[in-house]
Amino acid sequence: MDCLFCKLVAREIPADILYEDDQVIAFRDISPQAPTHVLIIPKRHISTLNDLQEEDCALVGRLQFTAQKIAKTLGIAEEGYRVVMNCNEQGGQTVYHIHMHLLGGRSMTWPPG
Ligand code: IMP
Repeated sequence: MDCLFCKLVAREIPADILYEDDQVIAFRDISPQAPTHVLIIPKRHISTLNDLQEEDCALVGRLQFTAQKIAKTLGIAEEGYRVVMNCNEQGGQTVYHIHMHLLGGRSMTWPPG
């Protein structure tokens, strides 16, 4: 499968990896939109949020919990941070392997663009 993030999981392309376990991996975004911008992804390929099955609920919870752990490790938890998952074209998704953005280190605005 020609998936950028699957290649990253397989170490076929380099990444600045911050966390990894048997199910998820987290790495710094190549084009950061905030002083801290980390992507947390499942190792297993899932194209979009629309493809989630009920049995994936724990996996998505793990993405969220990993974001919290990284936020604490990087020292942005107390000030605050944002997590975002984009779905399909109008949601702003550009890489079709689900990923959670963890953004922090600056004040966020609302609504998002
Ligand atoms: P999306 O727009 O929500 O799909 O987010 C995709 C993210 O992947 C963007 O923030 C990109 O900057 C990021 N990205 C694309 N290629 C790479 C890479 O090779 N390493 C790390 N991040 C990447």
